[in-house]
Amino acid sequence: MAQQFGERAGYAPNELPVDLARQLILDAITPICGIERIPLRDALGRILAQPVVSPIDVPAYDNSAMDGYAVRHADLATDRDTPLRIVGTAFAGRPATATVGPGEAVRIMTGAPVPAGADTIVMQEAVRATPDQVSVPPGQRAGQNLRRAGEDLRAGLPALAAGRLIRPAELGLVASLGIGELAVRRRLRVAFFSTGDEIVSIGQPTAPGQIYDSNRYTLFGMLQRLGFDVIDIGVVRDDPDTLETTVREAAGIADAILTSGGVSVGEADFTRDVMARLGDVLFWKLAMKPGRPFAFGRIGGHDGAWLFGLPGNPVATMIAFYQFARPALLRLAGVDPVAPPPLLDARSSGAIRKAPGRTEFLRGVLFEADGHWQVRSTGAQGSGILSSMADANCLIVLSPERGNVQPGDSVPVQILDGLI
Ligand code: AMP
Ligand code: MG
Repeated sequence: MAQQFGERAGYAPNELPVDLARQLILDAITPICGIERIPLRDALGRILAQPVVSPIDVPAYDNSAMDGYAVRHADLATDRDTPLRIVGTAFAGRPATATVGPGEAVRIMTGAPVPAGADTIVMQEAVRATPDQVSVPPGQRAGQNLRRAGEDLRAGLPALAAGRLIRPAELGLVASLGIGELAVRRRLRVAFFSTGDEIVSIGQPTAPGQIYDSNRYTLFGMLQRLGFDVIDIGVVRDDPDTLETTVREAAGIADAILTSGGVSVGEADFTRDVMARLGDVLFWKLAMKPGRPFAFGRIGGHDGAWLFGLPGNPVATMIAFYQFARPALLRLAGVDPVAPPPLLDARSSGAIRKAPGRTEFLRGVLFEADGHWQVRSTGAQGSGILSSMADANCLIVLSPERGNVQPGDSVPVQILDGLI
């Protein structure tokens, strides 16, 4: 695979651009196969495995978009009011029995089927009416205020394509077809663990030089939010045998394995050796900050797992997850198409120092001022400063060619809501 990647992209693995890395990863991945049929409500947050073909037209019949009068457009004079005789009333759920003949109208409510003979709805605010007669002013457009059968969804055509994430709107749409069950992809199984002799799980005392594990918690949160089955494997010591056993076992139970730490310059060599024994894993240095070191590849064969070796610094772990692992896991889970997170332009309220050559992801606070979106930095931007993520509602994304930012300059931001 390493060779394949290199040939295809002709990239410099020591300064791999963010967009290219994301694309290489996405190109390598195809969705998992398992499908299950589940009740509609349970499908919220799941991914459609087969298209939903509409069994009916929605709406099922022409109906009124307004409270008013169903009329024949040909009856209406163009230069004066037209008096019409009211021959019945149509309610939603209670159609009129009368048909509309020449010189006649039916009083009609929103959602009621349009009675036979009528082709136009005149809204009630536009007319003068008595219980028996309605006077329609000129200027009515033929076919107005009418919702046509099938204008939302057509019988026999796909209403939703496979790969669609089921959100509240999709639940409602499927319900409008009278469908109570959906075929969705099985849940993606994602295993994750932290690496490092200094990492201690909460509940245990820390010795000098040790720190509490935070990456397993941010990873848990980010994965859980995506609706995956998460498997927390714990902390793995910096020991080749333990790492090898752990990755081998994880590949047996998961579709993807996320690790944090152990891919930076000081540690990559031993991790690389272990991964080389287990599969085909690339070690990249990305042209980005934070989160330069990154590993991606395949562990084991057909029934193995994809491996994402995220950098250990807590902010770098999260940003690498959002930029690379998230889109890849969505594709693996069956989402199609996987869209990049939208970028919004905002004015930088302060100056930002930036050297050209790599993409920088700063943690920002997006706010509205004077009718414009503005963004300010959360403050210190070290890759270990997790409070910068906790305080942020967006990432300021500065592309490689960009240099220093002056106050008032426009900068693209990625909103974290929706990602998380
Ligand atoms: P590494 O990539 O393993 O060299 O780790 C880089 C930095 O991130 C070091 O300062 C580690 O102590 C820190 N780090 C690694 N893993 C974690 C973790 N799970 N939680 C908090 N900090 C971590
Ligand atoms: Mg480490």
